Amino acid sequence: MKPSERFAKKVWRKPPKSPSKGHKMPNKSGLGRCAICNEKITSSKRKLLRRNFSPAKSTVRSNRPYGGYICNKCLKHQAVKETRALQ
Ligand SMILES: [Zn+2]
Repeated sequence: MKPSERFAKKVWRKPPKSPSKGHKMPNKSGLGRCAICNEKITSSKRKLLRRNFSPAKSTVRSNRPYGGYICNKCLKHQAVKETRALQ
């Protein structure tokens, strides 16, 4: 047993036509944080820290430019600032 799996949560799953097996569930990651203001991004999702347990990428973060990296408020501020700088 790995030391990191010692206190892992165990779940019971029954595969078809065989007795149920115990699986260790991986830990959950925290919510995504904004790179500018360090606030929690509300549209981000807590996912499990193992590749084969994790949900689809499009469900984890919002599907827009800088989605899951910069929050909505900061992106709006940056867009206005950049547009004003062009003129
Ligand atoms: Zn922000």
